[in-house]
Amino acid sequence: MIPTKHVDLAILGGGCAGLSLARELAKKNINKSVVIIEPRTAYQDDRSWCFWAPIQHSLTGWVNCSWPLWSFGLQNQLKQSRSHLDFQYQYIRSGDFYRKSQLIIQDCSTIQLALGQAVKTVDVHQAGWQVVTDSAIYNAQQVIDTRPPPSNLIDESTLIQSFLGVEILLDQPTDVDASQVELMTDMRLLEGEFCFTYILPFSERQLLVEVTVFASQAPMQADLQIELDKLLYKRGWAQAKIIRTEYGNLPMGLPDEAPSSTPQPIRAGMRGGALRPSSGYGFLRIQRWAELCAKQYCDTGTLLPQTVSGFLMQKMDQIFLHVLQKDPALAPVLFDNLLSQTKPDRFIRFMNDQASLLDCLHIIAHVPKIPFIKAMLARQRNAL
Ligand SMILES: Cc1cc2nc3c(=O)[nH]c(=O)nc-3n(C[C@H](O)[C@H](O)[C@H](O)COP(=O)(O)OP(=O)(O)OC[C@H]3O[C@@H](n4cnc5c(N)ncnc54)[C@H](O)[C@@H]3O)c2cc1C
Repeated sequence: MIPTKHVDLAILGGGCAGLSLARELAKKNINKSVVIIEPRTAYQDDRSWCFWAPIQHSLTGWVNCSWPLWSFGLQNQLKQSRSHLDFQYQYIRSGDFYRKSQLIIQDCSTIQLALGQAVKTVDVHQAGWQVVTDSAIYNAQQVIDTRPPPSNLIDESTLIQSFLGVEILLDQPTDVDASQVELMTDMRLLEGEFCFTYILPFSERQLLVEVTVFASQAPMQADLQIELDKLLYKRGWAQAKIIRTEYGNLPMGLPDEAPSSTPQPIRAGMRGGALRPSSGYGFLRIQRWAELCAKQYCDTGTLLPQTVSGFLMQKMDQIFLHVLQKDPALAPVLFDNLLSQTKPDRFIRFMNDQASLLDCLHIIAHVPKIPFIKAMLARQRNAL
């Protein structure tokens, strides 16, 4: 017999979005029963969450490392770097994030993290929902779905951002400048697709080294491995001890899901469109949404779907992606121009979803015009 449990709120998926919402509800000492349903039985340090933020923010104590400078450059060209007086590029180790979130959640007696359970079905039931997992049935008043998008939907994205990286430990200190991240260096084309290097120096001996490709179809992991091996060899790090590996395929421009004949729960996280289409960044958006959603749920008992960019940023991102998809050869120069010619404060506002119309106009002024005009016209034709 599978036991049936009654809860006020079921959060499907205990990853970044699910745990962030639960953490915010726990901080408010929510007096409603909440369950987070997560298939993993234990969390691993499986990803590096980075973002630009002021030194002080609500997760400051969780930041593992931060850098005042970020560098970029085209293949075979000297790197340039930029900085901002008030913002730094910051890193939260996912292992710390999972552990600290769980500690906060455990302190709230009304929230249960149900590990080792995968959701099988979610259906409307009486005045709420019935969620069936492999070991329990939950009758929930409300449900929020933060499970990942199905892989066929990710495959239909305008572009896919694929990356493979390793966190390495060196015998000897490296000459890499530990005050700056290599955000997008060695920008080039790889088999016709945009490719770049991403390096986070945690110390003189410990670094995360990644190869990233933006492509219409995700490359094979084995091909990324070849590029990563070449990179490690080139930098003299081929013999380093590998602490962990990080791999991902992120949707850039996730399509809308086909309308369903049955009601669907509210979505958040990546499946709710949390990832910025032009960059794949989503951590800060998820945090903003989690705070707002927890407040709304505590104040009114209603849930908030994942918050996404405003109209202007959405249009900018669509055009940007369209250009990258139609003409990947433009990508290295496009990103190099964006990073070198946009003032750091405008660039950070653009990356953080806070760009004004003036910021957008400045960015447009520094990108190749003809492909953008063509992309805008093509989008207008498609919309007619
Ligand atoms: C390796 C990697 C690095 C990234 N780095 C950055 C970064 O530096 N900066 C940034 O802004 N963004 C980054 N992102 C993008 C984004 O922030 C993350 O993908 C983030 O984890 C998305 O949160 P999420 O909750 O939507 O998905 P997830 O964190 O993946 O959570 C989804 C959860 O659903 C669970 N689940 C799956 N199936 C079921 C089921 N049947 N029932 C119940 N639960 C289920 C999964 O186990 C998982 O825990 C990165 C992504 C990856 C993959």
